[in-house]
Amino acid sequence: MAARNPVGFLRTEYEDLVRNELDWKLRVLEGPSAPRCVVDGKSVLMLCSNNYLGLSNHPSLKRAAIEAVRSHGAGSGSVRPIAGNMDLHMELERRLAKFKEAEASLVFQTGFAANAGLIPQLADAGDIIVSDELNHGSIIDGVRLSRADRAVYKHCDTGDLGKVLSKVEEHDPPYCKILIITDGVFSMDGDIAPLDGISKLAHDHGAMLYVDDAHGEGVLGKEGRGIASHFMLKYDDVHVEMGTFSKAFGVVGGHVSGSRDLVNFAYNKSRTWLLSGSHPPAVVAACIAAIDVLEKEPKHVKNLWSNTDHFRKEIRAMGFDTGKSQTPIIPVMIGDSGAARKFSARLFELGVFALPIVFPMVAKDKARIRTIMNAALTKEDLDQALSTFEKVGREMKLI
Ligand SMILES: *Cc1c(COP(=O)(O)O)cnc(C)c1O
Repeated sequence: MAARNPVGFLRTEYEDLVRNELDWKLRVLEGPSAPRCVVDGKSVLMLCSNNYLGLSNHPSLKRAAIEAVRSHGAGSGSVRPIAGNMDLHMELERRLAKFKEAEASLVFQTGFAANAGLIPQLADAGDIIVSDELNHGSIIDGVRLSRADRAVYKHCDTGDLGKVLSKVEEHDPPYCKILIITDGVFSMDGDIAPLDGISKLAHDHGAMLYVDDAHGEGVLGKEGRGIASHFMLKYDDVHVEMGTFSKAFGVVGGHVSGSRDLVNFAYNKSRTWLLSGSHPPAVVAACIAAIDVLEKEPKHVKNLWSNTDHFRKEIRAMGFDTGKSQTPIIPVMIGDSGAARKFSARLFELGVFALPIVFPMVAKDKARIRTIMNAALTKEDLDQALSTFEKVGREMKLI
């Protein structure tokens, strides 16, 4: 028998992806993430970053990062439970808890690490996790790492969630714990989870509620405090408010906020937190500076929303469909995946960078160009973006 090639699948599977146009063709950003930036050597308008408020290039964040390198060095030297817990990490958690109006906060290396590390600790064998069908991949992986049973409810459908929870309660033997998990803002459609209704159901069924607010922080609620603030819910309604510093906060890092009990439990149990190196000082200091900016400069969140309202109104007036968007994530529906890819490529030729979202990320007939608004886009930038969408839409006979 011929010896089989143990690594042959690497190439065949990659080539399959390329043949089906499912491989990622990485674009290179030369310089900071900003509304006008250079991508693959071409000057473009950026309409697909998660840097909603432009904080990644804010002078206060840059200054804080540089100063922290001077005072604390380039790295933390360890994991947090051993010798990598610096005064800066503690300060960030105090500041974040205050910002989130929670008893306590805990910072993880990334949002992905928070979901993958904490979810499997919150629910174990004998428990059940109830998830929105469109939850983020990091939640799905966190759920997979848990030994709990799983149930899925229809996207943002509290009627269906109620039915699923009633069934869950009939389970014999009864489940010890019920954990409901939802994204706050869904990144493909830009719609907002009905957290008020979900929280009522959680309360009625004695369930714990976990919201992943990666796209809601810096965007929704008072001064960008997030989805719980948007619905005026507190940490005894939303027991785990998880988020990230990698989107509107403009840096990197995950976090959870809630009761002191939650944080004490989470840092003693989450393996991603316990067994992975802590953030370098520059990252932590920049995150603290981002909270400062959110508290002191409300104009960024305001600009984000006025840009969002303007762009969505104008793009709809042209005849485009923006689906269920309620937030700065504004999908421009195209339909066919090939057409969406072509639309995006033509936008890029004309100096607008916006990503096509195609099957299998969304349903076959629901391919779209996903635009993400930014506080730092000027009126001229928006006009240019809009006229480019109109031009390509006409060329492709979509409007
Ligand atoms: C981006 C994102 C994450 C991951 O956050 P990182 O900090 O970038 O790892 C988790 N959940 C949702 C909903 C996200 O959009």
